[in-house]
Amino acid sequence: MIPFSTLDRLHSELSSELKSAFDGVLSRGWFINGCECESFEKEFSQYCGVNYCVGCGNGLDSLTISLMSFGIGPGDEVIVPAFTFIATAIAIEKTGAVPVFVDVESDTSLIDVSQIEKVINSRTKAIIPVYLYGQIANMSHLKEIADNHNLMIIADAAQAHGASYDNKKIGTLANATCFSFYPGKNLGALGDGGAIVTDSNCYQKMKMITNYGSMVRYRHDCVGMNSRLDELQAAFLRVKLKVIQKMIDQRKRIARRYLNEITNPNIMLPVEKYGSHVWHIFSIHVTNRDELQQYLKLHDIETNIHYPIPIHLQPSFSKYRLGVGSFPITEQLANTELSLPLYYGMTDEEITFVIDTINRGLTI
Ligand SMILES: *Cc1c(COP(=O)(O)O)cnc(C)c1O
Repeated sequence: MIPFSTLDRLHSELSSELKSAFDGVLSRGWFINGCECESFEKEFSQYCGVNYCVGCGNGLDSLTISLMSFGIGPGDEVIVPAFTFIATAIAIEKTGAVPVFVDVESDTSLIDVSQIEKVINSRTKAIIPVYLYGQIANMSHLKEIADNHNLMIIADAAQAHGASYDNKKIGTLANATCFSFYPGKNLGALGDGGAIVTDSNCYQKMKMITNYGSMVRYRHDCVGMNSRLDELQAAFLRVKLKVIQKMIDQRKRIARRYLNEITNPNIMLPVEKYGSHVWHIFSIHVTNRDELQQYLKLHDIETNIHYPIPIHLQPSFSKYRLGVGSFPITEQLANTELSLPLYYGMTDEEITFVIDTINRGLTI
């Protein structure tokens, strides 16, 4: 069986280092906001090319905290691609602001920047581009629009650790860049985790929000939340951050083989259009998607769909009354997307088997 994803091969290589990271935290006996957190924040901000990093509990909170720290809340609107993981839109809802959806490009599945200006009005405060599947959005055009209308850019980089754009590091492209360290992400903890990287002085406010609105013990300057990066997770993340380039290089190599060797004419392959893609997800499109997924399952190849139901058609977002047809490209992508297996330690034989099986199913 070829799984869609597995962490076993990475974790068996790193097992002794992960265990000694655990031992270190256990023997120091300090479990919240300790030296591992501090060191990870320093190392990760450097990795992303900015001055500050604020660890937090998960990727959803990293987005919510960024919006809050920039003063976004009730009465405000935030622009977001219609095609993304639900968390991007939930974060906006949580602040009391309204998510305003914009359709995506059919070739990259990323926000269609040319459609942003028509939804901007006096309530618009920010844009959240999502670096979906591991590819940065069209940031030069987006930045121009944000500058013209005085809008903040808060990037959802939960799938794009290590991606770059015009040789610029990922943290330098937005006012704040938000990450998830959910285990399956390109940089994953052994549990939940998240972080915001930024050059803005708002990092102090962000830090405060993660810790009950407090900088000085038992003095609370704002109504914050409890969303801190665990000391233990920070220690594990430091182990993995040391080998992130190796992990990303492998993802790129697997993606390159898929791109070069999948020749089935019925399949639309992903494109690398903006910067350096880190292939969190290798996403193909095919008209009879469900048939292809069944066929691959029959040959012991596990696949996934990211994402089968667009946010505007989810029951939880029905209050906006955006029916079928509101975002045609998003809806079409949701109906045709299939994600292929791609994980650290995937062998050449496994990659070849996936490619051959797809090419042999010519009518699919
Ligand atoms: C995973 C993910 C999130 C949320 O991260 P969590 O750590 O699960 O809260 C947000 N946005 C995108 C695009 C994601 O893929």
